[in-house]
Amino acid sequence: MKAITPPKIDDIEKLCSMATDKRLSSYPELSVNYNRIMFSYAKYKTSKGSALSPHLSKPLLLSKALKECLIGHYRNKISTLSFIDNWRGNLTPDVCPMCGSLGKGTIDHFLPKDQYPEFACFSLNLIPTCLCNSSRSNDSKNCAPNQRLFHPYFDTIYKLRLVRANITQPVGGDLKTPDLSLSILLNKADCDYEAVRYHVDSVVMSNRVLDYFGKLWRKAESQPNSMFREADSLLTQNDFKREVIKTLKFSDLKYGTKNNWDSMFYAGILASKEAIKYLFNRIVDLRTGVALPED
Ligand SMILES: [Zn+2]
Repeated sequence: MKAITPPKIDDIEKLCSMATDKRLSSYPELSVNYNRIMFSYAKYKTSKGSALSPHLSKPLLLSKALKECLIGHYRNKISTLSFIDNWRGNLTPDVCPMCGSLGKGTIDHFLPKDQYPEFACFSLNLIPTCLCNSSRSNDSKNCAPNQRLFHPYFDTIYKLRLVRANITQPVGGDLKTPDLSLSILLNKADCDYEAVRYHVDSVVMSNRVLDYFGKLWRKAESQPNSMFREADSLLTQNDFKREVIKTLKFSDLKYGTKNNWDSMFYAGILASKEAIKYLFNRIVDLRTGVALPED
């Protein structure tokens, strides 16, 4: 979950080039539909993501043949679209703009190409993502009017810390194996709350974020000095809390967003007095030999 700057591509010039290219399978039907597609893309741009709810972005009615041609042009990376491969490596950041995972990814469509083939080749509909984008459902028919996905090129809400891990002691268990979930940090009365919830449920939760938190927790409690730089010299629980704050700020800066998975995890530790107490006690026990990493 990160706002990013799109590459500077003249999509209309490229659409014009494709529409007039007699060698392409889309000729002449694309030239017949040139104006409709151009105006639809202009609407996509002027709505700047905030109107990209499926309720407001109805796909164009195009023939099956033209739809297949447009998707085929994208898949085959015809020469007009060579820019896609050129910036695939450069644009892909170290954090996924859609879900906040730290895995490297690919270039994918914000509005799915099978539903919106008219946008299949446009740069503002091509975003760097991890696998979360291809695993999210394309079926948005049940989406309510105040629910939508945030667009990394247009939305600025990612500047806020939107979500954090929720780390709690399971009933009848202990924090060795905590219950993990995601908490949304916006107030429920906030006008963007439902949209954030929809985005988190559709994209972030579909991508094993809780498994990742579980791995980080095991690392935090078995090898805390590999996660918290000053762990070996901490004397009090408040020292540890300050160390977590430093680690969180470092993660925010490192990835350029407060909504990367590591920052979600550190913010979750900070929000839980029990987690702070448990991890500090683990640090002391490991340092003094009372406990071993595998305990
Ligand atoms: Zn992702």
